[in-house]
Amino acid sequence: MSEKACGCTSTDCSHSGCSDTGHDGHGQGCGSGCGGGHQELAPEQDRMQRTLRRVKHKIVVMSGKGGVGKSTVATNIAMGLALAGKKVGLLDVDVHGPSVPRLLSMRDAKVHIEADHIEPVPYSENLSVMSLGFLLPNPYQPVIWRGPVKQGFIQQLLADVTWGDLDYMVVDCPPGTGDEPLSVLQMLGADAKAVVVTTPQGVAIDDVRRSVTFVGDVGNTVLGIVENMSGIVCSQCGHVENIFGKGGGMGLAQELGVRFLGEIPLDPEVVRSGDEGYSFLTVQHESPTAKALQKIIKPILLLADEPAPAPTTGLAPAATMSGEVKVAVPLAKGQLTQHFGHCEQLAVITANFDSGEVLGSELVTPPPHEPSVMPAFVERLGVKLVIAGGMGQKALALFNEKGISVVCGAQGGTPTDVVTQYMQGSLRVGANGCDH
Ligand code: ADP
Repeated sequence: MSEKACGCTSTDCSHSGCSDTGHDGHGQGCGSGCGGGHQELAPEQDRMQRTLRRVKHKIVVMSGKGGVGKSTVATNIAMGLALAGKKVGLLDVDVHGPSVPRLLSMRDAKVHIEADHIEPVPYSENLSVMSLGFLLPNPYQPVIWRGPVKQGFIQQLLADVTWGDLDYMVVDCPPGTGDEPLSVLQMLGADAKAVVVTTPQGVAIDDVRRSVTFVGDVGNTVLGIVENMSGIVCSQCGHVENIFGKGGGMGLAQELGVRFLGEIPLDPEVVRSGDEGYSFLTVQHESPTAKALQKIIKPILLLADEPAPAPTTGLAPAATMSGEVKVAVPLAKGQLTQHFGHCEQLAVITANFDSGEVLGSELVTPPPHEPSVMPAFVERLGVKLVIAGGMGQKALALFNEKGISVVCGAQGGTPTDVVTQYMQGSLRVGANGCDH
């Protein structure tokens, strides 16, 4: 826990104002523009990658705003998965209101912090927990940290907590669509799937629309929408009264093309379980609310039958060229795009691979997309290397024939940054982003 808030391990780090997390998909923790040496982030990021590689499925529970029951849903999903025999880590990075310790009656838990790692707190045989709430001196302590400090802290929790092998990591994410949820998704990688929690009122429905768009823009998938506090359970007869109307969440899910995972009624027993910290799914397992929760958890549980997704990012292989080289980067809106064949423009960057300097940059408009046209066009530009998000197998083979190297799976960024990071050996790449 000795690194600076920006995640930098350097003792003379001066990145106190750096909040740039590479807002262009799953970039590196410290994107361009902070003026700091980006290489310094590598040890922390490597630890984070090593930790995350041992997690089969990452579920991020998000909401457009606070108070909709996001932590309650995250906690119950984690418990439900653990009760089904899965190894689960529940990570509460809601820096504004870390409520998981309260919901699980773990406020007095003592966290074991070593020089180089933090041990998660066991809740049950299958469920371990980590929360900022465990690390605050008291539960009333407000967190008054600037953005970069919060992001550095989230990164440390992801990098330094020794979860071991997990079937699921369930992350209780800060609400909204700001820097913190953005950092969480970027750090977890493109294979993290979002569960978006909303309530039936119109304003919350607007918030969920923003959240779903946000998740897609960052490059992650929405696993589904949960409508919480949907109707109220009568404490006398158990009947559910839909005081806010019904079907809003399902209608919105259909409109947005995402799965509707289900609705949870406003149930006094949920409040009691949260206040007293008992496992709602264990104690109330026959109640309609527990059944609603189980229905929501079922598709998440089915993920366990799918093969674990390939690790999302790693470093691109080291550059083998030398001297002055022209590099083509496909762009959309000035940033590297995932779709090589359909890019709006190609940036042709001239760089000296010996000194690592970018010497010049030119923007060219590619010909309309047709099979085999782009490789010939790129060859005529004198390009020797293409760095792309995704590329079809045919184009890859054609570049290969022409002796033009291709690096696939780059996640985003300006062309100059992408090429600079490649020369420095710090460009992160994931799977080939082309799905056809
Ligand atoms: P968020 O994480 O979105 O801020 P919480 O999960 O902390 O929200 O929930 C806020 C409050 O609402 C808590 O007191 C919680 O017990 C209560 N709550 C959440 N969902 C329900 C529900 N379905 N029925 C009754 N109370 C609920």
